[in-house]
Amino acid sequence: MMQELKDRILKDGKVIGEDILKVDSFLNHQIDTDLVYKIARYLGSNFSGVNKVLTIEASGIAYALAVANYFNNAPMVFAKKSKSKTVDMNTVYKTTIKSFTRGTESVVTVAKDYLTKDDKVLIIDDFLAEGNAALGLIDLCKQAGSTVVGVGIVIEKGFQGGRERLEKMGIKVESAAIITKFENGKPILK
Ligand code: 5GP
Repeated sequence: MMQELKDRILKDGKVIGEDILKVDSFLNHQIDTDLVYKIARYLGSNFSGVNKVLTIEASGIAYALAVANYFNNAPMVFAKKSKSKTVDMNTVYKTTIKSFTRGTESVVTVAKDYLTKDDKVLIIDDFLAEGNAALGLIDLCKQAGSTVVGVGIVIEKGFQGGRERLEKMGIKVESAAIITKFENGKPILK
């Protein structure tokens, strides 16, 4: 666990409703760029043998970029949510991911050219809740025949079941900070 991130969550994180942590002031709207690189070093040091980093747009991108750079400037790929007119659906792997924050489902795609059987992929995201985003990205890797090295998360909410679902599949999960619960509108960190 990363003490600096834990302190920052306690200082600047805001609990919204029952189950959402808002960290827009430093983590996924306005971004503390120095903290991004520190998080990347922390997450990167927990994995080895990575030659590609995969995330989903938009808020995972900054962290995935920095982690990919940590692994000798490996390429970073982000799965796209929007059905852009420039996407030929025959040239992409696609999966459906339920959004935790919005409750909607979206089709996400990665071009077949950018995910292959030679890739040893580290999946990175800003939050882990129920694990749907990570499971969708794992599904894309499976379709491509890529190896999933693990899942690296900036903030895990440890009470929403995501880790259990991933570990049941034999996937290694590392998080820079883990919230065990929300109590009186405040996050309690592990
Ligand atoms: P999961 O798919 O694991 O249920 O949820 C992870 C995804 O939902 C992440 O990509 C993240 O963007 C979003 N998310 C889940 N919980 C939170 C939260 O408490 N705060 C914010 N800002 N995003 C969240």
